[in-house]
Amino acid sequence: METSAGRRVLVVEDERAIADAVAARLRAEGFLVQVVGDGPSAVEAARRDPPDAIVLDVMLPGFDGLEVCRRIQAERPTPVLMLTARGEETDLLVGLAVGADDYMAKPFSMRELAARVHALLRRVDKVAATPKAGPPTLRLGDLEINQAERRVLRAGAEKHLTPTEFDLLVHLARAPRTVLPRERLLAEVWGWADASGTRTVDSHIKGLRRKLGADLIRTVHGVGYALEVDR
Ligand code: CA
Repeated sequence: METSAGRRVLVVEDERAIADAVAARLRAEGFLVQVVGDGPSAVEAARRDPPDAIVLDVMLPGFDGLEVCRRIQAERPTPVLMLTARGEETDLLVGLAVGADDYMAKPFSMRELAARVHALLRRVDKVAATPKAGPPTLRLGDLEINQAERRVLRAGAEKHLTPTEFDLLVHLARAPRTVLPRERLLAEVWGWADASGTRTVDSHIKGLRRKLGADLIRTVHGVGYALEVDR
């Protein structure tokens, strides 16, 4: 598959049997795979040889996967698939908040894992292609976003947004039905790394809902927001 050719995946897992099975499957898919078994090694490996994606277990020696994710994302945004113990809802929520893109609960099938890694990279490729090669107009259900003219229509009626509301909407619309953590929206739309400004995100979401309709944006409590529209 074209998403794997020459792409580098860092696998972070201290349980040898799982690490080996994940690495073998990803290598069979054509990925270049590096395996490390603890938190500090993961951060070091990502710094030395930046991967295209990371498969990251939460429970690790040294420091845990959440801390690994936090540190790596602070240096260079990288797609992360997080592995959690079944039923660890807290890990999932914190994982999304620290910048993980997707998660899987153990036990999982290697087939499913490979599919998720491909999906992660496809999503990244698509977002990267959007500004130059993508269509200038995003159409999602009855929502139409003309990026060149910075105009928004819902059900054919023009909606007047502030520049920040527009940028926030475009971010949500590029990854529909994907929960975007407030910290990430803050960093990408406002260029702030400081999570204390997440209330700013909340108030702009409120503005978007007032202008575009309350049904458009779903709140995931404690994490962030997702745009809920049909393709
Ligand atoms: Ca582990």
